[in-house]
Amino acid sequence: MLELKDIRKKYGQGDSTVHALSGVSLTFRENEFVSILGPSGCGKTTLLNIIGGLDRYSKGDLVINGKSTKLFKDADWDTYRNHSIGFVFQSYNLIPHQSVLSNVELALTLSGVSKKERRMRAIMALKKVGLGDQIHKKPNQMSGGQMQRVAIARALVNNPDILLADEPTGALDTQTSIQIMDLLKEVAKEKLVIMVTHNPELAEEYSTRIVRLCDGLVVEDTDPFEIDVEEKIAIEAEKKTQKETKKKKKKMSFFTALSLSFNNLLTKKTRTLLTSFAGSIGIIGIALILSLSNGIQTYIDQVQEDTLSTYPLTIEKRTQDTSAMLSAMMQVSELEGEIDPNKIYVDDSLGTMMGAMTSTVDNDLESFKKYIEVNHDKIKGYVNDIQYTYDFKFNVFNFTQYGMTQVSPTTIFDKIPGAAGLGDLMGSMGGVSVMSEMINNQDLLDQQYELVGENSHWPTEANEVVLVVGKNNQISMMTLYMLGIEDQNEIGNVMSGLTDGNYESKHMQTYDLDYFLGMTLYMVNEQDYYEITEEKYIGKNAPDAYIWADKRDDKTFDKENFVKENGTKLVISGIIRPKADASSTSISGAIGYTKALTDKILADNANSAIINQQKKYPEYDVFSGSAFEKTVYTKDNFNEFLAIMDPSYKAMLYSSFKTAKDDSTLLLVISMLSNDDRMTLMTEIVGAAMQSNPEKFNELGGMAGIAQNFPAVLALLDDATKQSIFAKATEMAQGFEVTDEFFINTVIANMGDEEFDQMLSMLSKYVPSQDATLESNLELLGDAEQAKPASINFYAKDFESKDKIKAFIDEYNDTREDEKQQIQYSDLIGSLMSSISLIINVISYVLIAFVSISLIVSSIMIGIITYISVLERTKEIGILRSIGASKKDVSRVFNAETLIVGLMSGLMGILTTIVICLVANPIIHLVTGIGNINAILPWVGGVALVLISMFLTLIAGLLPSRLAAKKDPVEALRTE
Ligand code: ADP
Ligand code: MG
Repeated sequence: MLELKDIRKKYGQGDSTVHALSGVSLTFRENEFVSILGPSGCGKTTLLNIIGGLDRYSKGDLVINGKSTKLFKDADWDTYRNHSIGFVFQSYNLIPHQSVLSNVELALTLSGVSKKERRMRAIMALKKVGLGDQIHKKPNQMSGGQMQRVAIARALVNNPDILLADEPTGALDTQTSIQIMDLLKEVAKEKLVIMVTHNPELAEEYSTRIVRLCDGLVVEDTDPFEIDVEEKIAIEAEKKTQKETKKKKKKMSFFTALSLSFNNLLTKKTRTLLTSFAGSIGIIGIALILSLSNGIQTYIDQVQEDTLSTYPLTIEKRTQDTSAMLSAMMQVSELEGEIDPNKIYVDDSLGTMMGAMTSTVDNDLESFKKYIEVNHDKIKGYVNDIQYTYDFKFNVFNFTQYGMTQVSPTTIFDKIPGAAGLGDLMGSMGGVSVMSEMINNQDLLDQQYELVGENSHWPTEANEVVLVVGKNNQISMMTLYMLGIEDQNEIGNVMSGLTDGNYESKHMQTYDLDYFLGMTLYMVNEQDYYEITEEKYIGKNAPDAYIWADKRDDKTFDKENFVKENGTKLVISGIIRPKADASSTSISGAIGYTKALTDKILADNANSAIINQQKKYPEYDVFSGSAFEKTVYTKDNFNEFLAIMDPSYKAMLYSSFKTAKDDSTLLLVISMLSNDDRMTLMTEIVGAAMQSNPEKFNELGGMAGIAQNFPAVLALLDDATKQSIFAKATEMAQGFEVTDEFFINTVIANMGDEEFDQMLSMLSKYVPSQDATLESNLELLGDAEQAKPASINFYAKDFESKDKIKAFIDEYNDTREDEKQQIQYSDLIGSLMSSISLIINVISYVLIAFVSISLIVSSIMIGIITYISVLERTKEIGILRSIGASKKDVSRVFNAETLIVGLMSGLMGILTTIVICLVANPIIHLVTGIGNINAILPWVGGVALVLISMFLTLIAGLLPSRLAAKKDPVEALRTE
């Protein structure tokens, strides 16, 4: 039951106040057909809107089923409209971009009815109004009468109590009007129908009650409804229980909002497309930068990985003290005290630097290796391989037409005239070795190398090795010499051939693959060169120890035969070459062997009888059976010391004694002079002494006393004379050749003991002891223990991993209290390279920051376009509100619209970027010449960008959508 109590409505304020309703009191029956008649502008529509909850009364009260609406909240009105009211308008007010069915369904959607039921009920409602076969048409494909019937179906679908019709036939011809009136009359049988009309005849004919309005007041009511209070209360009570069960209006589902907006966007495809495209430009910019920097980063990563496999992070057992070197370098330019700008100062930090450069640090790799093995889990994700190298002697031989050639250690430098020692030098620089252990990671090897020829295969056994050739299958002459395939004895002739123009180049000469495949090299363990004798250690508590001898000392030892019979056969199982696109490669030598071979050598070592015996009795020499002794050098056996001294050192030492710098050295120098020179010099000294102080000179005994009182005589000379005497003596002595004999008999014999000890300790630094020690013997035998690597190579996966490895080492160092036990390493190139990645990242960020501005611009644009859309869809907003949509529902519709636009912008941007990348990549390759740079948008970036685009447009659309939500539904409906 509906009751209007003195309803008043005024529009505007002050002078322009319009009183649309000035106190309307009406009570309606539960079902009757009420027609409201009255001149235009008398407030009919206003009355209807207030009854429908679409507009708010200014004064009075609207009582719905006995309940006052004075305290109604927005949500209560929404529920009321949605459940209890159905609106029919003169201008039908259908949503043009939705199908007939969807239009009818919409009210149900808002009340949260399931899809299936919704459809069923909508179709039923449409059948009721006679449109069962037109449900998929769009409103603009229908006649006015049909559209009005759709509107009635929509009004009825939610089974409301009240149907409000504002001039429903106003735009229809008579014939159609009658049909609509029949329909309404039918509805009025069970519902309250309130119809505003201009047509008194129709009102007369169809309605059961006519209310006339004039200037906002009821002037006539043909069938007023009055009930007594008791009856009223009873009705209210009954109604209450009935109505309470009605559910509250649910929120519009987001999907409904999306489909509403999607259909709306479809009606203006071109604009939506252009908007999305404009919005996508910023996205494209960022996506392109991301793609390119991703491409470059991937390329850098690849190069890094390749480079890192060539240059692992290496920790040597003995390493240079870089910190000392650095601090020495820092000191170079620093001068102490006050600086005189008119002087040039000598900077003598060279010595400090040289000292620092030669100073070494020993790393305890044994402990570190243990630590790595225990904590392998912490680091395994960052390394492709951890390689341990050992100091064993790797003796490898090859037999060719030129006889036996020692492949490793290579003998090639012995054969080049003047190159003796070059091998050592290059070896120390990590240079020329034929054999190199391959990284123990087949995936990485496969990335870098490919097999040559179908008979090639990677080593599957410890005794299989590969021959490494160049990218174009080349093998260097150097390698051929080293392998003995070319005659090493001829290598010297290359030089002379080159100088006299007789050099015959073998460039482009070829070999069949089969020449190398299956080639057998022989490897001999160093320990196998030694044999046990029958002599025991004498007088030592070592019952099972026998003295050992070097077989090679035996004149009859047949080395070739020995190698062939006792050597381990290493077979070349495959030929490999770097892949065309590999930017670097990990195998440095010409022959690559496996870690398995290293393990085998180490195992042989561990089982070697001679090594084990030496270790069992560490204080005795296996070669003599006597205790290790350190030779103590004295003046008497100094000749032995001189004998082991390096000749160049010796020459330096000797020449230093040929310089007279004070009285005592002058004497020594004089003893080196020839008689003539000596006489000349002595004459000069005597002459100068006599001249400077004749009395004193005579006192000292004159010419005769010179020998005994030489220092005193010299003391008579003034400094300048003395210096010139020193210089002259030094010059005269240069021609003299100091022999060991002279040195011992003259220099050493005249030295004081203290002076001798000083000299000895100084020289000992440069003259390595020849004494056999436990260490020297083990080194001689090529001992290497698995637990004691000579170096550890970390093959990092990338630069970040390298940092992780460094952190791992630092972590280890933290566990060592003693600084001496800490691991020292240097990684200068690493830090240099990692800054390149940093630079690229920074550049990318800066570019993205710039391009982001275009995102903001496009967001603002989308906001504006959404606002335009709000203006355009004002009518729709009114319709939605009239059928019960809340303000939130309306803002949802627009948020959905902006989200769709944002999604489209994002997707378009990503799609365009992918297409641009596809086109650009070949161009990048062409321009840079680097085939490995591939601009590819990382999917995470792509997804993030789409989300960002949606987020930004959503933000941009928030304001317009709130404006839409705030729109007055009545005004919204009035707009055309
Ligand atoms: P009817 O439907 O009977 O033709 P209305 O109810 O539409 O009349 O209008 C009643 C009066 O209220 C009119 O004078 C109209 O100009 C005025 N009116 C209606 N809506 C507004 C509004 N939003 N602002 C100001 N005046 C209004
Ligand atoms: Mg009107």
